[in-house]
Amino acid sequence: MNQHTRCCPVCRGDHTVPLHLNTHAALDGLDMSYRVARCVSCGFVFADQLPSPAAYAAYYRSLSKYDIAPGSGDLSVADRLRCDAAVAVLRPHAKPDARIADLGCGSGMLLGALKAAGWSRLDGIDPAPGAPHQASQQFELDCVRCGTLDQAATLLDLAATDVICLTGVLEHLPQVREDLEALTAAIGDDTRILVEVPALERFAHHSFEPHGEFSLEHIQYFSADSLKRLFAELGFTSLSSTIVDLPPGYCDSLFALFARDPATAERSAPTATNDGIKDYIARSEAMTRAAVARITACPAKTMMIYGAGSHTARLLPRLIEAGESRLAGLVDSNPNLRGKRLGPLLIETPDALDRHPDATIVVSSFRSQQTISDALRASRSNPVLTLY
Ligand SMILES: [Zn+2]
Repeated sequence: MNQHTRCCPVCRGDHTVPLHLNTHAALDGLDMSYRVARCVSCGFVFADQLPSPAAYAAYYRSLSKYDIAPGSGDLSVADRLRCDAAVAVLRPHAKPDARIADLGCGSGMLLGALKAAGWSRLDGIDPAPGAPHQASQQFELDCVRCGTLDQAATLLDLAATDVICLTGVLEHLPQVREDLEALTAAIGDDTRILVEVPALERFAHHSFEPHGEFSLEHIQYFSADSLKRLFAELGFTSLSSTIVDLPPGYCDSLFALFARDPATAERSAPTATNDGIKDYIARSEAMTRAAVARITACPAKTMMIYGAGSHTARLLPRLIEAGESRLAGLVDSNPNLRGKRLGPLLIETPDALDRHPDATIVVSSFRSQQTISDALRASRSNPVLTLY
């Protein structure tokens, strides 16, 4: 287990209660396992033992987005709902001539929605080298530049920006408190901050992938309460907070808008701990045990695993622990994965299944198991085992 320890990003407390060991098979030799814990002082749930900042840097440089799910019609529905929610939160608080900057804007989806809603003074930065081109191609935006969060103050005139958007960002940052302190020092007195994070209180709302919210990249888990508390620590008060329902398969999103308020009295407000995290972990554990039992009870002589994403990264250590020794290989249709290793297994393209005509194919995916198993049954004679 990784031993880089950090204190609570919300209150700086250093007493935690462990909740879950999120053990991942090493990806290309990089162990991205971490421990989920709750802060005793303020109740915040976060990864308190995790890979070093250098390991995260190596991960984001070469392996990030390694497990992008296959295209799905639901994605555009979820993204549309997220964009609509952001526009609805901003509308009463940002005038039509407001200057808005989206930090971590990706291909510009939110900026495109803001443009369509009538705002025109827009900026965006994203670390992905292809982001400016994507934004131009997909949304006809020429306001996106390549850059990281800590470069925002040099790339943009943050003091003259009315709204900063941080959507799908804060749950990723190994030094979230320090990053926010630097950002809030660089913005204007009247600059507002729009935040979107996965809503902890909805982790077990729909049918869900076991431990799926403990992805490689998500290392803090905000509830409406703990997000408010973090910003109170930074001298900001919440103007608006709402949880948006997303389609099954996606965690509901928490949106909140913050404004500077040095007199904020929320600093010492206790954070509610009835956020459902223990229920989520217990139900995830029961689902994982059932999935492992399905595999170990299967009479197959050899097995091939289909899918080399986070689901398999979590499953492999459990199968090895259960003594499963019939795994002959691992395939995935994502060409970026070819030749990399997940735990002891080399990732190959699905053509490798040709060498194992009698092996049972284990579909290692929650969200895509139906699509994958239908395609396999239509094209191959191998027995197919689904887990859910
Ligand atoms: Zn704390």
